[in-house]
Formats: sequence, C-alpha cells, structure tokens
Amino acid sequence: MIFLKKIEAFGFKSFAEPTTLNFDFSMTGIVGPNGSGKSNINDAIMWALGEQSYKSLRGDSIDDIVFSGSSEKKPLNMAEITLVFDNSNKAFSSLEYNEVSITRKFFKLTKESEYYINGSRVRLKDIQDVALETGLTKSSLAIISQGSISNFVESKPEDRRRLFDEAAGVARYKKRKEEAIRKLIRSQENLDRLNDIINEIERKLPTLKKQSKKAESYKEFFDELKNIEVSVLVNDIKLYKQKILEINEQKTELKLQISSLEKQISKRSEEFNTIANSNYEKEKELSSLNKGFTKIVEKIGELKVSRITLESKKNKVDIDDKEFKISDLKNKSKELEIRLEAEEQKLSKLLKDKVEKREKLDEASEKRFKLNQDLDSIRKQLAKTESSLETLLARKNSFDNLFEGVKNILENRSTLSGIMGTVQELITVNKNYEVALLTAIQNGLQNIVVKSTTDVKLSIDFLKNNKAGYATFLPLDNLKPSFINNETRFIIQKSKGFIGFGNELVKIDKKYQVVLDYLLSNYLVVDEYENAIELSKITNQKFNIVTLDGQRILPHGAIIGGSRKSKNVVLNDSVQIQEYENRKIELDEKELATSKEVEVLSSTIEVLREEIAEIQTSIGASRNSSQLIEKEATEVKDEFRIITGKELDGGQQEFQSIDEQIIKIISQISAQETLKDEIQQQINVIRSLKDKSNERQNNLNSIINEDRGLLSSLKDKYSNLNSDATLMQEKQGNATARLAQNYNLTFEAALELNTNLVETESEVRDRINYLRKEINLLGNVNLDSIDEYQEENDRYQTYVDQTQDVIESIKNLKDAIGDMDQQMIIQFKKIIKDVNGVLPDTFATLFGGGTASIIYTNPDDILNTGIDLKIAPPGKKIANLNLLSGGEKSMVALSVLFSILKVKPIPLVILDEVEAPLDIANVERFAKYIKTFTKSTQFMIVTHRMGTMENCDTLFGATMEQKGITKLVQIKLIEAKKLSNTN
Ligand code: ATP
Repeated sequence: MIFLKKIEAFGFKSFAEPTTLNFDFSMTGIVGPNGSGKSNINDAIMWALGEQSYKSLRGDSIDDIVFSGSSEKKPLNMAEITLVFDNSNKAFSSLEYNEVSITRKFFKLTKESEYYINGSRVRLKDIQDVALETGLTKSSLAIISQGSISNFVESKPEDRRRLFDEAAGVARYKKRKEEAIRKLIRSQENLDRLNDIINEIERKLPTLKKQSKKAESYKEFFDELKNIEVSVLVNDIKLYKQKILEINEQKTELKLQISSLEKQISKRSEEFNTIANSNYEKEKELSSLNKGFTKIVEKIGELKVSRITLESKKNKVDIDDKEFKISDLKNKSKELEIRLEAEEQKLSKLLKDKVEKREKLDEASEKRFKLNQDLDSIRKQLAKTESSLETLLARKNSFDNLFEGVKNILENRSTLSGIMGTVQELITVNKNYEVALLTAIQNGLQNIVVKSTTDVKLSIDFLKNNKAGYATFLPLDNLKPSFINNETRFIIQKSKGFIGFGNELVKIDKKYQVVLDYLLSNYLVVDEYENAIELSKITNQKFNIVTLDGQRILPHGAIIGGSRKSKNVVLNDSVQIQEYENRKIELDEKELATSKEVEVLSSTIEVLREEIAEIQTSIGASRNSSQLIEKEATEVKDEFRIITGKELDGGQQEFQSIDEQIIKIISQISAQETLKDEIQQQINVIRSLKDKSNERQNNLNSIINEDRGLLSSLKDKYSNLNSDATLMQEKQGNATARLAQNYNLTFEAALELNTNLVETESEVRDRINYLRKEINLLGNVNLDSIDEYQEENDRYQTYVDQTQDVIESIKNLKDAIGDMDQQMIIQFKKIIKDVNGVLPDTFATLFGGGTASIIYTNPDDILNTGIDLKIAPPGKKIANLNLLSGGEKSMVALSVLFSILKVKPIPLVILDEVEAPLDIANVERFAKYIKTFTKSTQFMIVTHRMGTMENCDTLFGATMEQKGITKLVQIKLIEAKKLSNTN
C-alpha cells in the first residue's frame, strides 16, 4: 500500500535545497551516515501535520526548524513542507479528494505558520483534525523511534496503555473528553460565580423592592397632585387671562368714553366762558347804547320843547285864522316832507345794511363750510394715525411675530436673568438704509442680547426643560467681533458708491455696540449694484456687500437679489411710534384750532342773522311810517287846496323866520328819531342775542354739571378696573411662577399637558388634601430606587436565566463525557481482546516460540487501568520484565506493535532504527515479518541494518555532498551498503 506519495521540502532543517521524495513502494528504506538528515524526514512529516512542540522536533526554539546556514550557504528565512497522500481509501474520512496535499509554511520574521489543504488556506485545528483521522500523530503508532521501542517494556503500565488507547481510537475521545472536562470546570466555576452574584442580588432585592414600591406610590400621588395642581393653575391662569382681556377691553372702552367726555366738557366749558365773555361785552355795549338812546330821547324832548315854544310864539303874532291855517299847512307839509325824506334815507340805509350783512353772512357761511370740510379731513387723518399707532403699540407689546423660543424667553424674562431684549428691539436705523440693513441683519434680528454666558445657560436650560423652542443668544461677555483691518478699511472707504460699514450705520445704546460690531462689522453698504460688484472684486470677495435696494453679495461671490417681502419685519418700530405720536399731537392741535374757528364763525353767523332779521323789521317799520307820512302829506295838500284853491307847492313856499326855525327843529327831531331807531334796533339785536346766550349758558351749565358727574363716576369705574387688572395680573404672575418653580413648566407647556382634571372645587380641594396627606405619610422616599430595583431585578433574571443555561450545559457535558467513557471502554476492551487474540502467535513467530498476553492492572476501572505484559519466551519463565535483554525487550515491543497492526491496520508507519539492538537473525525475521503487513500499511524504515535494507522494496540514500545540506537520492542496495559502511 502506498499512502504517502510524496514529500516536498525546502528550508526545513537540513533541506536547504528544494527536495522531493516520491514513494512508489510500500516499504521504503532510508539509509545514510549519522547526521545526514534521515530523521529530519520524520520531523518534516510530523511538522507538516501540525506538531507544535519544538522539543518533539528536536529543537531548542521554534526557529530551529528553519535551515540555519552552513559554511557555504546562508541561512534561510522560511521553511515549507508539502505531503501528498493517496486518499482513494478515504483514510482522511472528512476529505472528499482522492489525493490530499497538506502544506505548512513557517516565516522566521513573523514567527507565524500557514497551513494549506489542497492549496486552500486552513487553520491549524483543521490540520490536527485530519491528522487524527488517520492516526498520524506523534504519540501514535505511526512514528516509532528506537527509544520508544526500548522504553515500551520498561515503562509503567499506565503509560503503556497509551499505545492501546491510540490503537483503539480512544485518544480522539480522550482529547474531546479533556476538552469537555475543561469546559465542565469552566462551567462549574461560572455557575459558582453566578450563584454568588444571585445570592448577593437576592440579599439586596427585597429592600429595593420595598423602596421602589414606596417610590412608585409617591410618584403616583405626586403625579396626580401635580396634574391636579397644574390643571388648577392652568385653569386659573386661563381665567385670569380672560379676565385681564375683558378688563382691558372695558378699560379701552371706558378710556374712550372718558376722553370723549372730557373733550366734550372742556369744549362746553369753553363755550360757556366764551358766551360769558361775549355777554359781558354785550352788556357793556348795551349800556353804552342805552346811554346814547337816553341822550337822544332827551335831545328829542328838548327839540320838541323848542318847537312848542316857537309855535306858541308864532301863534301870538298870527293875525288871520285863514292865513294862519295856510301857514300851518305849509309848515306841516314841509315837516312831512322832511320826515319822509328822513324816512327814505333811513330805509335806503337799512336796505344797504341788509345787503352788506347778507354778503357777510354768505361769506361767513362759505368759510364755515370750508372749515368744516377741513375739520372732517383732519379728523379722518387723526383716526388713521390713531389706528396705525395702536397697531404699532400692540405689535410692540406682543411677541406674535417671534420664533417660539425667542417668544418664550421674552415672555418669561422676569424668571430668567440678564435678558436685554432682541436685536430688533435695541436698534434704530435711518430710513434711507433700512432696506440695506434689513437685508444684512435679517437673520440676527431675533437674536437675544444677554448679559453673560451664565445667563445664556439658564435660558437654554429653561428652553430645554420646557421643550420651548430654541433661540440664538448674544452674551455680551463672550462676543468677539472680527474687525476689518485699517488698511483694507481705507481702500473700502475710497471706493465708489461706498456708504458705510454696517455696524456704523445702525444706532444702538453704547453698552450694546459690541453686538453691532459682532453682527455687522463685515457688512459694507454701497449705493448700487455695479459699485457693489466692483467693491467685491477690490476686496477679493472677502466681505458681505449690500446695496441700498437690498441686493447682497456674499463672500466668495454668491449674489442674492430680487425684492423682499418682509411685512412682518419692521425696523424702527419705536421711531415710527414716536413719529405717529407727534403727528397725532399736531393733528389734535389743528382740530382744536379749526373747530374753534368754526365756533367763532358760527356765532358771527348767528349775530349776522339776528341783525338781518332786526333790519328786516326796521325796514318794514320804516316803510309803514313812510306810507303814514305820505298819507298825512296828501291830506295836508288836499286841505290846502280846499282853502286856497291852489296847489301846495313846496318849492314856492315862503316862510317866515320863525317857521324856518320850527322846520329846522322838526328836521333835527326827525334826524334824532332816525338815530334813536337805529340805536333801538341795535339794542334789540343785542338783547335778543343776549337772551339766546343766556338760555344757552343755562343749558350748558346744567349739561356740564351732568357730564362732570358722569365723568367722575366713569373715572371711579376706571380706577376700579385698574386695580382689578393689577390683582388679576398679580394672581396670574403668582400662578405662572408656581408652575415654573414647582413643576418647571411654562403656561404653554402646561397647557399642552392637557390635564383637565378640575371638576368641582370642593372635590379638588379634598383630593389635594388627601394626596398631600398620603405623600407625608410616605416619609423619606428614594426615587432612584425604582430604576435601581428594575435594573437589579433585570440583572437577577438575566443571571437566573444564565444559571439555567449553565446548569443545562453542565448536564449536557456530563452526559457527553458519560457517553464518551462508555464508548472508550467498549473500544478499549475490544482492542485488548483483539490484540490478545493475535499476540501469542506474533510473539511465537518473532521469538521462534513461547507465548505472551496483555492484562489489565485494574480490570474494575477500564478507563484508567494500566496494561501489563505476561511474557514467556521459549523455555523461559519471566517474573520481571526488566530482566529481559535489550534485544528481547525490543522484540516484545515489536510483537505488541505488530499485533496491533494486525488487528488495527494504519496506513503509514515510520520506524526509526527500531531494530538496531537486534541480532542479525532477528533483524532478518523482523524485516520479513514487516513484509507481511505491506498490503495494508506503508512503511518507511530508517535503518543501518543490512537485513532490513535487503528486504526493502526501495532505498533512499541521505548524503551531505554539500556540507550541512541533505541530499536524498534513490539508491541501489550496493550503494546503500556503502553508505552504511561509511558509518
Ligand atoms: P543518525 O543516523 O545519527 O540518527 P540522521 O541521519 O538521522 O543521523 P538527522 O538527525 O536526521 O541525522 O539530521 C541531523 C542533521 O541535520 C545534523 O547534521 C544537523 O546539523 C542538521 N540540522 C538540523 N537542524 C538544522 C537546521 N536548522 N539547519 C541546518 N542543519 C540542520
């Protein structure tokens, strides 16, 4: 049989050159002088099959297996052996191939070995497993040296059984059993460790469980209490907010009422005063008119007395009645003429007056109409301004346009610290730069300026704890603006269209200047696009450049442009508010002045109307009196005609001097009368106006008194509302503070929890009292114990589970060991029995007679029993094996070896000078006997003995032609003889 077909060696020990050994026969002898490298072939086979002990390979260190150099050849760095086996009988039962090559390589540098089966890289363990399958291991029968043969007989029974273990295939089980026992020990240790841990946890667990239960109860009570309290607080806050809203609405309404009432009162008081003043004036005028009137009446009286005196004087001189009558009629006619003339003059003056007054009235009416129109437009403007102002103020006071986080920070400013406000609140921007700067600063508008990084930490914790959004903070103590260097600034300032640096175009309180420097010092404002592009080039595209109309060039050249809809973002709210407030004051003043003017005009119009009416009356009266005079004159003329038969012609009348005097007086009286009428007319106008004024004044007085009463009650109401609002705000503040302090919640966050548990107030109160009592009763509570208990309990369960697994695996291991023991006993017993079956015959053949057998030293313990030998060479009785000669000992050992091979053939056996101690006859017998096994076993025999050489099928000679380097060649027996003789 040929099992090992080929050995290829290179770099292994003395195989410094690539060496190939082909085995074509089943019994190969290897001969050569001492030290020529014969045994290195055994070592190569063992090494390639995974041998790890360098001592077994006859070295001091692992490096010793690599060719270490000779006088002519340098040392090598690696060793490589390949063994090629015929596997057509499936000696390697796990490998499918008919030919199996096993390679091992070793590298000195890394001290690493590589293994290959049929060219594929495998692990050491894979090699060891396949070696075991064929029995090719160092402790096996496969490689037998002279030492082990002579030791066999002398060794202890327990050591001797190893050979049988090997033959029985028990070694494999033993190895597995050892592994199983190691695992068992490890598992047992593991189990002990687990039990220790479990005991320790079991000791802690009850206390922890108790604590955890207590903590859970506490949590339950606390959570319910929190939910109820939070929900009470939320409801309260909602109520307060609602109330505040209502109160504010009422306040606004009341404020409007109060201000309009105040305006009304002041207007009426002013009217009252104006009337009083004009009454006083009228009174003065009336008194002077009355004086004039009295004087005229007196004058008329005096004139009338003069006339009567003159007439009675004339009566004394008048002789003739007829004459007298005629003269009287003449006088009368003259008087009537004068009076008529006076009357007509008066009438024409009245008519002229009337026209004048009407014109004045029209003019005044027109003016008043225009003023009313003005007033209307002023009032409209005022309303518009007021509403814009209100919107701005409302926006200023609300945070609706802000990001959630920013809004929450500002709303809770009082509970946080160091919050200065948003950038938007703090800056003022010139209208001309508003668009440009809005473009530049837009993202920073809602940044919150904060005093210090410590304050920022508080705010961020607040946002995090309340899940209240996020915000960007600018802590004044931490901002490090980067400024443009002076040289570059100079260049920028000189460039076309440059307007200014962003941080210098915005106004801010000096203490916040660092904020502007931080946000805007690298922003350059330029008039228009082309100049912006130019500046960007000049500055190497290093800065942000914005144009007045809001186009922006970013560093490195990106351009953002177009038109921006940013109705929600307005810079300069406060500036606009101020502007609107100024405008409102201006319009208020205008309204007041115009309405005063209207009032003045109205009273002028009233006076004019009164005067016109009075003139109209006078005109009527004058016309009447003219008619009466004319009628009287006609009567006088008629009487004159009757008496004289002539027409009375005023033009031809002749008057005596006395008549003339009378006529003069009459005309004076008439003039005075006209004057008196005029004064009367004026007095009438004034009186009537005064009456009306008085009536209005009385009226105003009572209205003003009434309004004042109303005003004071409205003011009382307003101040009550004010204190109500303060109270509600206080309550809301307290409730919000309690939410924050006790539960770390903002109102919004609490609202989201939606714990609407409030039913009736008394129920809630009872529940709160109950929960507080329960919490007090619990005493000290360790909240961490809940998690701790959970963790410990989980750990406990894990360890208990692990223990179960370990117990299970221990049981499995014990079962497996039991099975293996059983198997080993069976197989061991079988091999002993089988060997005993053939040993006597083998022994007799080798010894030429006698008998031998093997026995258990302890038959009750097959697993551990030793093996003893009972030997009876022909004609001898042996009591002690040590008494046998060296050759006999070898023969005994070889008998046992061959017996084993008989019952348990193995594919390859290497015998290294095992027959050395035998005499020539025994060597011959030995060699011949081997021959009988070559059908089932391949032999490689290292030998110096001729008998053996002669019986080999082929011989390899080991020489060292080059010093220190083994060379192996197939040789003939004659050459072998020579080689051995050189020994
Ligand atoms: P003997 O008949 O005396 O048993 P042998 O032919 O069996 O001798 P080996 O033991 O096989 O001889 O070979 C030993 C030889 O191998 C020695 O000459 C030794 O110097 C050489 N040798 C061993 N290891 C190395 C190595 N790493 N490098 C070079 N030579 C080595």
